[in-house]
Amino acid sequence: MKVYQHIFEHTPDALLLVDQTGRITLANAQAETLFGYDRSELVGQAVEMLVPPRFAARHVGHRPGFMAESHSRPMGAAVELSARRKDGSELPVDIMLSPMIMDGRHFTLCVVRDITERKAAEDKLRQQTAELQKLHAELKELANRDSLTGLLNRRAFHEHVAQMLRTARRRKESAALLMIDLDHFKQVNDRFGHAEGDHVLKMVAAALKATARENDIVARHGGEEFVVAVLGASEAESIAAAERLRLAIAAIKNIKSSITASIGVTTCAPQVHKREASLILEELLAQADRALYAAKNNGRNQVCHFNRLAQPGTPL
Ligand code: GH3
Ligand code: MG
Ligand code: MG
Repeated sequence: MKVYQHIFEHTPDALLLVDQTGRITLANAQAETLFGYDRSELVGQAVEMLVPPRFAARHVGHRPGFMAESHSRPMGAAVELSARRKDGSELPVDIMLSPMIMDGRHFTLCVVRDITERKAAEDKLRQQTAELQKLHAELKELANRDSLTGLLNRRAFHEHVAQMLRTARRRKESAALLMIDLDHFKQVNDRFGHAEGDHVLKMVAAALKATARENDIVARHGGEEFVVAVLGASEAESIAAAERLRLAIAAIKNIKSSITASIGVTTCAPQVHKREASLILEELLAQADRALYAAKNNGRNQVCHFNRLAQPGTPL
């Protein structure tokens, strides 16, 4: 028997033997250390003295249930448990309950383990994971943006438009692509310097963003070239949208010399056949580019739709 006493006494977890009325009848050395009570202060007291006051009433209510268990089980499997020390401080714990019958009387052996360190490590891990996720989202956002203007970059534009084209096909809607190229932009750099050129690009980006609709995809396609994709726009509507953008660029203030843009537009009718979105996009970009070329050739500062070119059906 001595050896069992020895085991009870020196188990690294706090052990409490609780009788049917909820009184502590035995406590080991770890229980004294963990809760800060002398054993004589524990034995004979209701086990609720070790439960934070806000949970004590509920604990009393649940106790008959614990006592009725016929096999060992963890307490509060899905909730975090806390215990209360003599000085009133609390600590997170894991509790295992093991019913036993001695001399015909029911007892519950409670194994209480301090999990402060484990919880701290878990909390730290959770916090680090959250920080990493945030960083990941920021990096992804950064990778999608053009650093000068803050607009989507070419790669992100292609991704977003491919998605838009899939939506268009699903909803049997049209889609339009507008390719915008600033006129004689090289002269801005030549006359006023590269910094002013950069400033103009930022102002143009802001004007496009402010004029386009919220669901339109606006991006810097490279250099002084911008692209806008519009879901559900007919040929006439896409030309009207391009005109609004052209006028918005021409109306930009706070730049050293006003600027104009040429815009090539193309519209994609609702898709009847299932075609790869990236292939459709490639075709739309080539068509918008041809329309843009025509707008430049016709004297710049204008909108030209691919369908209104002299021979729109000519192979690209
Ligand atoms: P066009 O009307 O035919 O389009 O003439 P353009 O001068 O606009 O066209 P061109 O392609 O000859 O010149 C584009 C210029 O845009 C040249 C390049 O230095 C300038 N550019 C491209 N990217 C940037 C940039 O990030 N910042 C600045 N400041 N200039 C840029
Ligand atoms: Mg250009
Ligand atoms: Mg240009």
